[in-house]
Amino acid sequence: MEPIFTPEQLAEIKAYHLPLYIRSAVSPFIYLGVLALILGVLVRPFYRWSESWAAWLSQRLAFLRTAPVSRAFVKAMDRLWGEPGWGAAIFFALLVNLFIDLVHVPATIYFDYVLEHRYGMSAYTPLRFALDELKGITLQGFATLALVLGLYGLARRVKRWWLVLGIPSALLLLVSSALDPYRSQVYFEQTPLEQGPVRERITSLMAQANIPFQDVRVEKTSVASKRIQAYFAGQGPTRTIVLNDVILQELAPEELLAAVAHEAGHVHEAKWPGRIASSVALVALLFVIDRLLRLSATRGWFGTTRTADIRTLPLLWLLSFSVFFLSSPLSAAFSREREREADRYALQLTQDPDAFRRMLVKAARVNKMDPDPPRWVVLKGHSHPPISERLAAIPPTPEKRAPAGGSPFLTEPSH
Ligand SMILES: [Zn+2]
Repeated sequence: MEPIFTPEQLAEIKAYHLPLYIRSAVSPFIYLGVLALILGVLVRPFYRWSESWAAWLSQRLAFLRTAPVSRAFVKAMDRLWGEPGWGAAIFFALLVNLFIDLVHVPATIYFDYVLEHRYGMSAYTPLRFALDELKGITLQGFATLALVLGLYGLARRVKRWWLVLGIPSALLLLVSSALDPYRSQVYFEQTPLEQGPVRERITSLMAQANIPFQDVRVEKTSVASKRIQAYFAGQGPTRTIVLNDVILQELAPEELLAAVAHEAGHVHEAKWPGRIASSVALVALLFVIDRLLRLSATRGWFGTTRTADIRTLPLLWLLSFSVFFLSSPLSAAFSREREREADRYALQLTQDPDAFRRMLVKAARVNKMDPDPPRWVVLKGHSHPPISERLAAIPPTPEKRAPAGGSPFLTEPSH
């Protein structure tokens, strides 16, 4: 038996994680500082610029208001917004987001590229990294546009907009996991897992667990990261077992089955309480936003002149950040409990604690997980229990003697 890490490996892992812990402690304050700067100083100039860009553009593109096809589009936008003037709102929203992104560029490059490369965790080329970042910013830009036109547009025209928007969105949230299998394909290439013993064993394990699924797919994440990863996407008829190419390379078949069995454990979780809670929370959040928009208008905050003035957008970012920041310790605690349960389920299903243990140890080594992260980091928002805890929870193999003394994660049997 050997410990998960040699002292040198452990020192390297601690050195890798230290900057991440510092970021975890500092970044909320930086984000709040940036928002304070925007709210206190930048809202007015940003809005002035947006108005003049929109005015300049609409002068240049005035013919679009009369040309056959674009005329219908402009009219639809006017109707969505309740009046002309949506151009300035769009510019303002994009400007605010771009400013926040730009402030974070150095940290993004350091943490997601430099640090990851220094510890051999990333396979990104600078070009691919930049492209993926741009993809993310573009997706976020479209989401912001949808928010601006949907939420603000509706709030400007409809009194009980938070119900009109909240109820369909809540329903959408309830079924959104059916869209899961398609989301990750924006970033990585996926192919079906080839026919063969591995696929057969996964299929019979799923039959044993009584979980229907559509396909087992291999996600080629090795172009970006050296981490191993497995997850189930979708549900029922769209359920897909996704394994990345790294996990197929690193794990022996029994260990791979242990990982799949853990993911199968998540399928049997009671999902409805959580989904219903988040749907209700969403409607409640929209109601609070409605009150905030009205309050800003009556008080004339940031130069706002009416309800659902786009200048309140940074205030919404502040509100959503606070909700997220305050709720994540609680949701992470629930998540860690679900992970423990999925581990117990996997052990029951496979009856192979040794393979499960080896799977966790390999995952910890390959992904360079800190076996014992500081308690505050875990409580602040870790979705998984520390690896040392998960290993300690595995019951000893029946026919062998329990390991006497020493570290609780003296695990890997010699083989
Ligand atoms: Zn899990």
